[in-house]
Amino acid sequence: MTEKVKPPSLLIEKARIFARDHVVPQAEVWELDRAMAEMTLRKAVAAGFGGLLVAEKFKGSGASFSDTARVLETIAAGDLGFAFSLVVHNNLAASLSKDDAQRALHLERMLSGEKIGAFCLTEPDVGTDAAAISTRARRDGNGWVLNGAKAWVTNAARADIFCVYAQTDDAGGAAGIASFLVPRGTPGLTIESAYTLLGAHAMGTSGIVLKDVHVSEDMLFLPPGRGFKGAMAGIDLARVLLSAMCCGILGDALDKALGYAAGRQAFGQSTLAFQGLQWQLAEVATNLEAAKLLTYRAAALLDEGLSGTIAAAHAKKFSTRAAMGGVAACMQAMGAEGLRTKRPLSRHLAAAKVAEYLDGTTEVQNIVIARSLVREYSR
Ligand SMILES: Cc1cc2nc3c(=O)[nH]c(=O)nc-3n(C[C@H](O)[C@H](O)[C@H](O)COP(=O)(O)OP(=O)(O)OC[C@H]3O[C@@H](n4cnc5c(N)ncnc54)[C@H](O)[C@@H]3O)c2cc1C
Repeated sequence: MTEKVKPPSLLIEKARIFARDHVVPQAEVWELDRAMAEMTLRKAVAAGFGGLLVAEKFKGSGASFSDTARVLETIAAGDLGFAFSLVVHNNLAASLSKDDAQRALHLERMLSGEKIGAFCLTEPDVGTDAAAISTRARRDGNGWVLNGAKAWVTNAARADIFCVYAQTDDAGGAAGIASFLVPRGTPGLTIESAYTLLGAHAMGTSGIVLKDVHVSEDMLFLPPGRGFKGAMAGIDLARVLLSAMCCGILGDALDKALGYAAGRQAFGQSTLAFQGLQWQLAEVATNLEAAKLLTYRAAALLDEGLSGTIAAAHAKKFSTRAAMGGVAACMQAMGAEGLRTKRPLSRHLAAAKVAEYLDGTTEVQNIVIARSLVREYSR
């Protein structure tokens, strides 16, 4: 009996077509050229994928979290780095859309693809312990002056608007953190050369330096007291989306391995006829199924307005691991051919490793999960 499959929503089908026509054909080039996927990113935004989480009344897609996860799973199957670039832009567009003044100033151009956003929290000396950032913001007349350095800024290579988190209080701490919008070209803002990494170069990741950068009061986005909370506000969703993206690359790797093995002959038969290889891929399929279920469940909890913190941590941890091990297993099933860059598997493997750091490392997910276990047993 064949399983009944629910037809994908129009948005997900549109994402599949966009990935097929614009992401898949370019992905190897972005990686080999170590180039940010700027034009395709602007095209994706203009096609309606830049305001997935922006309400329809503000001209966004108003998509549910579940549909957003499926859209990103679909696009990541083409290139995870590209999908993450899009997520960073989407997150900023969604937060700006909730603020009347910022919405009026920036949203239209962020939804048209004219302005690409970047999120700048991490610093050269501060990653996981984000409340310890040292970039400083000081009041200056009717504006602010920013000094410091940010590291690992996705989209930095081509972004037009940088959302910079900075400490306003000499005493430090989360309560003093505020966020500021700094347009590209602002005097004192330097964008460093894009990092050369294991993979995911489509993200155009680099450091930025802020030296006496003056911004007017209307560029203060989240004031002290709200900045750090704002940075952490979407973290559960961000983890669900990364989990979905890992499902995307794992599904594509499995598909490619099955297709290749079906046509590859050894010892007088297709390599897919060997039970050893079938079982290797069956393990991948089971992990993919589990990763999808964890992801969709966490997304559904968020859609219902319930806490998705633990579910998102489980999903992100499981899916990144499943992708790391599973993509490697799929490469193995393809023999040496799996290593070639014209096949997407080496790109997916590098992306899976990168995903282990994004939006909280695997260790951070364990902190979240362990805290909930300990809390339950210390009552
Ligand atoms: C390609 C890429 C793009 C990125 N894009 C962005 C971006 O757009 N904006 C942004 O702000 N950041 C971005 N990041 C940064 C990312 O969020 C950080 O890498 C991440 O938060 C981890 O920080 P870190 O790399 O400095 O590791 P560190 O904080 O230095 O940690 C080092 C190791 O120690 C572990 N560790 C730390 N604390 C604990 C603890 N309490 N218990 C157990 N283990 C612990 C970590 O898990 C890790 O394994 C990006 C990173 C990458 C790789």
